[in-house]
Amino acid sequence: MEIRLVNLTKVFPGNPKKNIPDTRAVDNLDIVIPDGKLIGLLGPSGCGKSTTLYMIAGLLEPTSGEIWFGDEDVTRLSPEKRGIGLVFQNYALYPHMTVYKNIAFPLTNLLVEEPVLDQNKQKILAFYKKHVKALPTDIPTHKKGETVHNPYTKKDEVLKFDCSHIAGDPILDEKGNQAYVTRKRHLYKLEMDKLIRETAKLVQIEQYLTRKPNQLSGGQQQRVAIARALVKRPRVLLLDEPLSNLDARLRLQTREEIKRLQRDTGITTIFVTHDQEEAMSISDEIVVMKLGVEQQRDHPQEVYNNPRNLFVAQFLGTPPINMFDGHVKNGVLTIGNDKIRDDLPKDIPEQDVLVGIRPEGFLVPAVNKEHTFNIHVDMIETMGRDISLVGSNEHCLKPTFKAILDADTEVKVGPLAVGVKPNKCFVFYKDTEERII
Ligand code: ATP
Repeated sequence: MEIRLVNLTKVFPGNPKKNIPDTRAVDNLDIVIPDGKLIGLLGPSGCGKSTTLYMIAGLLEPTSGEIWFGDEDVTRLSPEKRGIGLVFQNYALYPHMTVYKNIAFPLTNLLVEEPVLDQNKQKILAFYKKHVKALPTDIPTHKKGETVHNPYTKKDEVLKFDCSHIAGDPILDEKGNQAYVTRKRHLYKLEMDKLIRETAKLVQIEQYLTRKPNQLSGGQQQRVAIARALVKRPRVLLLDEPLSNLDARLRLQTREEIKRLQRDTGITTIFVTHDQEEAMSISDEIVVMKLGVEQQRDHPQEVYNNPRNLFVAQFLGTPPINMFDGHVKNGVLTIGNDKIRDDLPKDIPEQDVLVGIRPEGFLVPAVNKEHTFNIHVDMIETMGRDISLVGSNEHCLKPTFKAILDADTEVKVGPLAVGVKPNKCFVFYKDTEERII
């Protein structure tokens, strides 16, 4: 199911009397979430991620804009009718119920629609078939006991069954000889049981069905919550920071499971998080938000490799990107007196700029003597596979910066001339913070 957000906006009204301004939590969001994909909504606290999710869920009404599920405009549809599964940060399981009952809960009130052969219709059709040897194009809407003129027998006949509720065209099968009506009913126990066990299996908790939530680990509880969201076979799965209550190892494991589950079920999923690593690892695409406004939307690696502005560059990456004051003139980028790159377009007007260098963007030793960046190595930390170099430079916006190097790089504390990989070095306008190159 493709989800389309069209100019979606949410303004929480302030209170002029108390000098509280309006909050534009989501501002003209225009996103298409392709069918069967997992999209990460990413941004710092307060950027409008949850508000967006709750509008998609139908729990919050948009101030303006539209929400489409496939061809259906669901903007004003109630949450129950949207066919969504929602998982919150605190899994909110019912503590007194077993896992089985927790998963069963959403099914208890579920009404399914099924086609049934209508007894009255059958009789009416039999009547017509007998007398006319053909099916009626128009079923009469008379009540039982009414006298109806049968044009074929040319007699007035008293109807032996009520057929007022089946007015309209009959629904016929491919042979054209049966009529169905749909009826709504609750699920049968056996049907529920099948769904519960299938879903429990999907999230690998089938062995815990008889336990109570407090007899499960945090990760297992979260999987129960996910099962509860999936059991109704939603069209869309919405996950609001579902891993934030888990410890580091469980987070990693559960996020891999969510990814597997999403692939297996093919349910279009929106995953809200402020954890960039989590979003990058799990999402087919990420949407980076700031103050309710979309900053960039693309494949995670593309957003990391090609940030559109300073905010996105700084938000993605651990350790974060290192920022320096720089200068551009005649296509040459300098930091202080060091020439860093000379491949910038010559038509960029001379100006001071901000330079971002990813931690993995340093070359030790420098390969091109013309492009060396003079830094001071303050500290070296070995972290298994890599070396983390803590360096300083008077043009760095922070007292120190970090470089990640291969563990076999020879480096010692003191002054050092390093190279900078052009594809890991981004230049931004100082005023707009948009990327120049
Ligand atoms: P977090 O990661 O902390 O959950 P978020 O990105 O999900 O943050 P939202 O919860 O969507 O952010 O909030 C977006 C903005 O809307 C915030 O400034 C918040 O204070 C404001 N906001 C949210 N709900 C309300 C409300 N009911 N009334 C007024 N302002 C609200």
